[in-house]
Amino acid sequence: MRLEGDRMKLYNTLTKKVEDFSTNEKGIVAMYTCGPTVYHFAHIGNLRTYIFEDILQKSLEYLGYEVKRVMNITDVGHMTSDGDTGEDKMQKGAEREHKTVYEIADFYTKAFMNDIDKLNIKLPGIVEKASDHIDTYIEMIQKLLEKDYAYQAGGNIYFDVSKFPNYYELSGKSGEDLLVGVREDVEEDKSKRNPADFGLWFTLSKFENQVMQWDSPWGRGYPGWHIECSGISYKYLGEYLDIHCGGVDNIFPHHTNEIAQSESFLGHKWCNYWCHGEHLNDNTGKMSKSKGEFLTLSLLESKGYEPLVYRLFCLNSHYRSQLVFSYEAIDATKNAYQKLLGRTAFIRDNRFGEKELDKIEKYEMEFKRALENDLNTANALTTLYDVLKSDCTNETKFCLIESFDRVLSLGLLKEEKLEYELEQYIETQIQKRNEAKKQKQYELADKIRSELLEKGIELKDGREGTTYTIKK
Ligand code: AMP
Ligand code: ZN
Repeated sequence: MRLEGDRMKLYNTLTKKVEDFSTNEKGIVAMYTCGPTVYHFAHIGNLRTYIFEDILQKSLEYLGYEVKRVMNITDVGHMTSDGDTGEDKMQKGAEREHKTVYEIADFYTKAFMNDIDKLNIKLPGIVEKASDHIDTYIEMIQKLLEKDYAYQAGGNIYFDVSKFPNYYELSGKSGEDLLVGVREDVEEDKSKRNPADFGLWFTLSKFENQVMQWDSPWGRGYPGWHIECSGISYKYLGEYLDIHCGGVDNIFPHHTNEIAQSESFLGHKWCNYWCHGEHLNDNTGKMSKSKGEFLTLSLLESKGYEPLVYRLFCLNSHYRSQLVFSYEAIDATKNAYQKLLGRTAFIRDNRFGEKELDKIEKYEMEFKRALENDLNTANALTTLYDVLKSDCTNETKFCLIESFDRVLSLGLLKEEKLEYELEQYIETQIQKRNEAKKQKQYELADKIRSELLEKGIELKDGREGTTYTIKK
């Protein structure tokens, strides 16, 4: 039997090619996605990566696969540099807010869950905290030591990259190129055999103020950042992974190190497809938590952008292209989203006509072809617009919108979404009317008021400004 999903084509960072996708176990995808470091709010760049991963999972499900997906929550071990240098991010967060690392982790994990819920991102079936799996990391590190892939130096345990010949395969770069990125390590940690060696376990010798610590055969300490994903993936998905994802910054060193330690530990190839989402940039360059205006989903909301406007903004471009955020661009998307919701709401409320099965099949096929083409979400949206423009009955259109929204997840048929959009629309019209009155353009002001009235929205000017009532 040929699964629909067998046509899926995905770009694989490992081979640098778009490849036909196939799974180890027929019809089942074992998928691992690196989760957030919970020392601060996620910025909308981070959230772009989670939207891409959500689309990947939902596309595979739409094509007939069952997806077993695991995500970690990084609450220990991630340094301010993605190598082993700098401060511990969690520790930094705790100092910033005068809280314990546990409180920080708890607070920002909840904030993350809240964000992804607002973006209609499906929470992976298994979400695990890094600090809950210390035993698994210790078991893996012990085996890596036994197999001579790891060594103890200066109180810490390091992975010896010279023992893993394919170390640079994923990044496609030479050791020389990448040394630039780890130069800090060279100066700081003279106990390493090779500058590119990375930490598997740190003892107190590294950071004396580290709060999260556990006993280990090598002294009290804590795990390196990379081992957590190898450990959690091994524990919940076993020895073979189909897909591993993250943002492009994860390629080196994080995913490179994950491959080295997992394959050395397991003794065979670990993951077949490595999929990476490109970054969201602002006009000054890559968006990061430490730079400029901290662009969170809540900030966007406070400026009047509904979270799903941001989801649509991301879906309009391909996940492997850099995307530049600007308020002009998101304004255009906001407009487009309002129009889209207006059209889908009309169809929802006017479900007349036959259900035309041939047309449903045709458009669903087009939609699938777009997804199978390395997740071409822009083309998938074009198919949606084609349906709205088509001569299909509203019943057919309704069925197709419902079907596509299983992947797009734009809340296209939900009543309350329309209400939110309606509120935004009325507020904008009120502002326009106020502006017109200020400029003494009374005709325009009256026109706005009567247009709203025609739609059943009555404005009242009072001491609190302009309020409105909606006649049902
Ligand atoms: P972190 O919370 O720092 O561990 O990052 C969470 C996820 O966001 C990782 O998969 C990163 O690769 C990704 N990421 C970081 N910066 C950006 C960005 N500017 N645009 C898109 N994804 C990003
Ligand atoms: Zn990871």
